[in-house]
Amino acid sequence: MSFRLADAHAHLDEPQLRNQKEAVLSRAREAGVNLIVNVGIGQESSRQVVETAARYAEVFATVGVHPHGAASVHQDDLKNLAQLAAHSKVVAVGEIGLDFYRRRSPEQVQEHWFREQLALAHTLGKPVVIHTREATAATLKILQEGRRHLLGGIMHCFQGSLEEAHAFLDLGFFLSFSGVLTFPKAEPVRQVAKKVPLDRVLIETDCPYLAPQPWRGQVNEPAYVTATAATLAQLHGISTEETARLTWQNTLAAFWLDGKGKNITVAEKSGRT
Ligand SMILES: [Zn+2]
Ligand SMILES: [Zn+2]
Repeated sequence: MSFRLADAHAHLDEPQLRNQKEAVLSRAREAGVNLIVNVGIGQESSRQVVETAARYAEVFATVGVHPHGAASVHQDDLKNLAQLAAHSKVVAVGEIGLDFYRRRSPEQVQEHWFREQLALAHTLGKPVVIHTREATAATLKILQEGRRHLLGGIMHCFQGSLEEAHAFLDLGFFLSFSGVLTFPKAEPVRQVAKKVPLDRVLIETDCPYLAPQPWRGQVNEPAYVTATAATLAQLHGISTEETARLTWQNTLAAFWLDGKGKNITVAEKSGRT
């Protein structure tokens, strides 16, 4: 493989992938995917993603409670997340945010725990991974209010407008594009991705969800991030190799794996180059 790719957002411990992790990671390596950020969505999930990150050199973890689970969070849970975050391979707090599309938890409850987890990230000295769906204005408002305490972050599966993209870029955030970028009807997302500065863009699978073309509808996995890389390359008129190089570097920068934070560097920990 002549290039290496990073998948900035995966859920390797969701039921669809959890029992075939070895095979999934081996296919990822064959595709050149040598860095995977395994994202927590709740208490138990956060414990699992850290365990997986501890086991595999190329896997890093984030801990947090997804807005869907906001209604069942207790104050003690934040302490548990903080304890999990002490592991050297935990690179961010996330995914946290607001989801007013499915509204599995009341809006105000989502907003409360979003703020609490942003504060947790500040205390822990870590960037944040943000999920927002049909809630961009409220998400931006909360991030802008807490701007002084923000240490950087990633808007995952970004599908907002160019104006929204700029608002998040102004906060110092990276924008991460998923397999949605390859969907025939996603022209608006492609138009935005085309204009995002190449030093602020990441690619992700959000696997097992959102498999890109030509695997759409199947269980997604990190190896498929190659399709999103190819689409991003086309949009910017650069090679897939160059896109891989840039998004790899951006992923290191976004999660402070380039030595900015106290995290170990990928070069040290990941055997492959
Ligand atoms: Zn999400
Ligand atoms: Zn996710």
